[in-house]
This record gives sequence, structure tokens and C-alpha cells, in this order.
Amino acid sequence: MKTLLAFSIFIFSVLFFSPMSSDAKKPIRILVVTGGHPYDKAPFNEMLTGMGKNITSQVVEFPSAFDQFLPENRRNYDVLVFYHMWQKITQEQEKIVAECIREGKPLVVLHHSICAFDDWPEYWKIVGGKYFHKPATVDGEEYAACTYIHDIHFRVNIVNKKHPVTKGVKDYEAFDETYKGYYVANGVEPILSATEKSSNTVIGWTWHYGKARVVTLQSGHAAPTYQDANFRKLLKQAIVWVNADGK
Ligand SMILES: [Zn+2]
Repeated sequence: MKTLLAFSIFIFSVLFFSPMSSDAKKPIRILVVTGGHPYDKAPFNEMLTGMGKNITSQVVEFPSAFDQFLPENRRNYDVLVFYHMWQKITQEQEKIVAECIREGKPLVVLHHSICAFDDWPEYWKIVGGKYFHKPATVDGEEYAACTYIHDIHFRVNIVNKKHPVTKGVKDYEAFDETYKGYYVANGVEPILSATEKSSNTVIGWTWHYGKARVVTLQSGHAAPTYQDANFRKLLKQAIVWVNADGK
């Protein structure tokens, strides 16, 4: 009987305290900003809805999404998730986007959003990185045009296993597009790395822009990544972590 009781308590603990099944502790409304790059919407949206009942999402697209950064609309969401590769931006739009984040709107940047806004250097400072389509100079350092390769099998290494974004995620095999040669800001905290030759070494980091926490992840091209339990966990924990400090 004692054994049965102990076993029942064990099962109860597994069911209710397992980190795999945990929901975000409080509701988080994410605004997912797309546009400027195609993607497979059905599995992407399935990933968004699979993040537990406490994380709800609204997907918007540039250029109309610029309105969401206006002061009167910022209360409609808690966390920004960038999955766009938009390029065209006016000075007025630059001002409202940068201000929205600088004043504390938390941000998670995915994959081709590292390649957006080629002509807006402040965006590179927001992200803490930038994929260059043509040679560029940042902080006096010259960068050649970056390169990408699709469908690469490679290992993702967790740099800091104790960080709230990576907690519970072990090194894993990814199947994704890689980017190489892109700028990563001095002072980012690396959380993910790779030794794959077609990839940058640091492929995930935490960062701050003004009052906002920022997490940037290189991964995220298509369905194999959207459906990867490791990537999903990283994304969810990134959303929860940036929001913990957000306004
Ligand atoms: Zn891609």
C-alpha cells in the first residue's frame, strides 16, 4: 500500500510539475510581425497555438503592422515576436518602432528577421545582430555579404544550460537553414552555438535595447524547425523570459 501511495505521488508529480507540460504562469499576448518573406503558415501557426493556453498570439504583417507600434496600440500586446524580413521604412516608422521597444516592449527575433531593414542601422542595434545582403560596416568593422544554405543537419549546443531561456533543453540535432558571416553585437550573452561550417558560431543570444529584453534565435526557416520540440521550448521560454522584465 505504501508503495502504491508513493507511486501515485510520483505520477501526480510527473503530471503536474513536468516542465514539458508547463504553461506560462501568467497570460502573455504576443504580436507576431511578418511580411517581406514567405513562410509555411499552417505549421507556423500550429507552433504558435501549441505554446499552452496562457500564450495567445496575433499575427500581423508589414507595412500595415507599423500601426501596432503607435503609442495608443502598444497596450494591446505584451511581447513582440519578429518573423518578418521587411526592408522599406520611413523615418517616422523608424522612430515609433525603436521607441516602442526602447521604452520596454519585450522582443523575440526569429531567423530571417535578422536579415530585415538593410538601410536602418538602429534596427541592427535592436536585434543585436544583422545579416548583410551586401558588404557593410558596423562600429568601424567591415563585413562582406553574408551567406545562407538551406537544409543543413547540424548540432545546436546550449551555451548556458542554467539560463531561463535554455533551461531543460539539451544539445540537439537541427535541420534548418544556416547563416554565416553576420554581425553580432559586442555585449550579447550567447545562449546557443554551432560548429557547423556554414553557420555563425553564436546562433542565439540575449540582449537589451533600452528597457526591453531581447532574445534572438537564428533558427526558424520552416516546418522541421517549427515542429522541433527543442526549438518550441526555446521559443516559449524566450517569450516568457523577455516578458518577465517587460512593461
Ligand atoms: Zn530562411
